[in-house]
Amino acid sequence: MQCELCGAPITGPSKTIQIEGAELCVCVRCAKHGTEVQQPRRKGAAQAKPGLAAPQAKRRPRDVFDLMEGEIVDDYADRIRVAREEKEWSALDLAKAIKEREILIKKIEKRDLIPEDEVRRKLEKALNIRLIDAPEDSISSSGPGRVSMTVGDVMSFKKSRK
Ligand SMILES: [Zn+2]
Repeated sequence: MQCELCGAPITGPSKTIQIEGAELCVCVRCAKHGTEVQQPRRKGAAQAKPGLAAPQAKRRPRDVFDLMEGEIVDDYADRIRVAREEKEWSALDLAKAIKEREILIKKIEKRDLIPEDEVRRKLEKALNIRLIDAPEDSISSSGPGRVSMTVGDVMSFKKSRK
């Protein structure tokens, strides 16, 4: 086996890298000249859709920083759709109400997209709903039993995820 870049015989582990769209099998020293391809699968690799291979990978990663800002609720998509339908708004109506594109609303309601903070706030305001479990709210404004996800739930979730 030879390095396709420098031509030297590859004795150790080989690397598959991409340079300007071409996949090359190179030696370790040449790997830095391109972008390393994690899984060297030539057959059908170009057509493979990300996400199909690993359905679990789409799960939103959670970390401490999420907890500090408050968590977006797991059923945000349902809450938005239900609130919108209660108003008898189409996705387009909602999009106009928050000055966003209709496609964005549809993507969010299909859970293809998690609304960023700015969009989320506009949705909350337009639909009069809450999309976040803010830790400070659970302590100050609402009594016990009102919070759908406690810190304890999150901690056990994190533990079980390992
Ligand atoms: Zn080389």
